[in-house]
Amino acid sequence: MATQSKAQFLNDVYTHLKKRYKPKPERGGGRLMVLEAVIYGVCHENTTREQANQALSRFKDGFFDWNEVRVSSLREIQGALAGLSETEGRAHRIRRFLRQLFDRTYGFTLEALTKKPLKDALKALEEYEVLASDYVAATVIQQSLGGHAIPVDDDTRRVLVRLGITAPDTDIPTLRAMLERAVSKNRGVEFLDLIEDLAHDTCVAGEPDCPRCELRKICPTARLHLQQDGESASETHREEAQARKPHAPKGPKEAKVASAKPAKEAPPSSFRPPKGKHGDAK
Ligand code: SF4
Repeated sequence: MATQSKAQFLNDVYTHLKKRYKPKPERGGGRLMVLEAVIYGVCHENTTREQANQALSRFKDGFFDWNEVRVSSLREIQGALAGLSETEGRAHRIRRFLRQLFDRTYGFTLEALTKKPLKDALKALEEYEVLASDYVAATVIQQSLGGHAIPVDDDTRRVLVRLGITAPDTDIPTLRAMLERAVSKNRGVEFLDLIEDLAHDTCVAGEPDCPRCELRKICPTARLHLQQDGESASETHREEAQARKPHAPKGPKEAKVASAKPAKEAPPSSFRPPKGKHGDAK
């Protein structure tokens, strides 16, 4: 699919999904602090934004400040991540980030970065291990630094592969760059929310629920499933029809024997002799 046609197709996807998934209220409206966007990114990868928001709220409500999170045990941090997958790994990354931040700045703010050009801010963030994740970096750009970014996790990638937007082996930064060219900045957040809704509603991991999906008429995977179902139904139908047919004589010798038999053993009048060279019914 050329970039232009991808843009058109993604526009159709957006229009269809918007009809189905109503816009959700904004998370308190507006930009996240840079530090919060990092934590939010770690929490949001391969989960829903509701789960990520809940986790972020638990950090804010359940700990005195980010320093308390920094000095907490992994088990305590995992408590704030309840309901998410891979809580141990996420807790480790969050604590490691807070420790690195404190070691470098003796504080817990990165707001000065919002005044820098995006490129410089990203360069500064490269110092933190957690930002090696393309998903976290894109979340910070989108939620905090005011740039155009569409974070892609496994759920988003699964949907885009099924929609034929990308090959399964395309790496995340390449896929993200393509998406950011095809989807405008003012639609980026909403587009991603809609894809996330789809990924957790019908286009789930495992078997997708295509008959219930708003995109079933434009999705190549749904069309393929429909075609395969049709082929399998006609195959079953053919087999059943074949099973109902009387057995045709298989060769000249058997045909001769059949014609030599008395009339009462002849095939029913609906029987049509096979036309194929080897007696295959056509
Ligand atoms: S039609 Fe099926 S495969 Fe395509 S996006 Fe919807 S659920 Fe996923």
